Amino acid sequence: MAKTTLHCSFCGKLRDEVKILIAGQDGHICEGCVDHAREIVEQEVTSKNEEGSGFKLTVRKPMELKVHLDEYVIGQDEAKKILSVAVYNHYKRLDQSRKSKNTKKDPTAEEVEIEKSNIIMTGETGTGKTLLAKTIARLLNVPFAIVDATVFTEAGYVGEDVESILTRLLQVCNYDIAAAEKGIVYIDEIDKIARTSDNPSITRDVSGEGVQQGLLKLLEGTEVLVPPQGGRKHPDQKLIKVNTQHILFICGGAFDGIDKIIARRVNTNSIGFNVNKELQEEMKSNLLRFVNAQDMKSFGLIPELLGRLPIVTYLNPLNKETLRAILTDPKNALIKQYKKLFELEDIELIIQDDVLDFMVEKAMEYKLGARGLRSICENILTDAMFELPSSKEKSFTLTLDYAKKKFDHAKMSMLKVA
Ligand code: ADP
Repeated sequence: MAKTTLHCSFCGKLRDEVKILIAGQDGHICEGCVDHAREIVEQEVTSKNEEGSGFKLTVRKPMELKVHLDEYVIGQDEAKKILSVAVYNHYKRLDQSRKSKNTKKDPTAEEVEIEKSNIIMTGETGTGKTLLAKTIARLLNVPFAIVDATVFTEAGYVGEDVESILTRLLQVCNYDIAAAEKGIVYIDEIDKIARTSDNPSITRDVSGEGVQQGLLKLLEGTEVLVPPQGGRKHPDQKLIKVNTQHILFICGGAFDGIDKIIARRVNTNSIGFNVNKELQEEMKSNLLRFVNAQDMKSFGLIPELLGRLPIVTYLNPLNKETLRAILTDPKNALIKQYKKLFELEDIELIIQDDVLDFMVEKAMEYKLGARGLRSICENILTDAMFELPSSKEKSFTLTLDYAKKKFDHAKMSMLKVA
């Protein structure tokens, strides 16, 4: 009789209803509940590893990523697509390594290791390279740091150690190492650490090739000792161990003159082939489109470093149409921001279309690019923003005449620096 009253203390099933009933001190558990409990434990442990640090990774499909980028960045479709796929694959790889850590290994299964897809982007300054990297990091909700390659020098020389790149990443996530280890680092001005000639240097090149060698170590995915406050490492400093295996590195640079290198290569390749005139013209109009690792090597990046940056992409120069769209279209477009500022004063800001064209014209004329648009807006609108809050006006229409008048007073020389 006592035998039949034995039951699982968790689900209540009787002895006859289960295969096995394991006895504990004051109760029993059946095989079903053991399985269920194991699942819960696994889920908890996994989410603790990832989220216990207050960090949750959000993986999005490439198309979703691109749609998001479209909201903030105008044009640059090719770069957006390449970046979306690379970032997606990177996080899929991350997910795969997490899963394979948590599941029992099937000895017969072939282990395919997906390699990291660090990215290198080329494009004139102010075309949206940093903006792309920043926007994608924000969507994924991962720590993101921007560093400038020019501040680093080879260990032992004046300047910062390359490891301090990771200091910035640690700082943005309050030294949450688990979060930093899944972050994105944007290394700007990578072209400025190119060695000066294609031949390995005879003299020491502390800020070029030496730094590239230093970067290699970070990009390949190893454990790196990071000085918590950045700068130079010194012997009695406590260092933080960071694994860079899952950190995505995106490098960007203007690579001034790379078009000539591409032209030379493309021309050489097409000698002997009957490349038609139309195609030649099209190729000439945007040579950056054909950029590859070989061109970057000719520019002065070492092959080992390029090997760690397998994805090469480019950004188009901004033309009038793009600049015009940048003013009004992105989610936080400049014009939207100014309208909001006025709205907070209960004033409606109306900007006539020809004013926008005028702003774009000036940005082109003074070669200020997208960065200059803000200075132009400031110059035109500062007086209005100074005077209107103290007036009773409920609306303000920005006309071309007004814009021209204000712009004439602007210090163009100052704008040129912007
Ligand atoms: P880069 O890194 O290529 O030098 P940034 O991404 O820093 O250029 O661009 C500078 C600023 O110009 C951005 O903050 C943004 O306001 C604007 N901008 C540049 N390109 C674009 C673009 N394609 N779409 C929207 N805004 C842009």
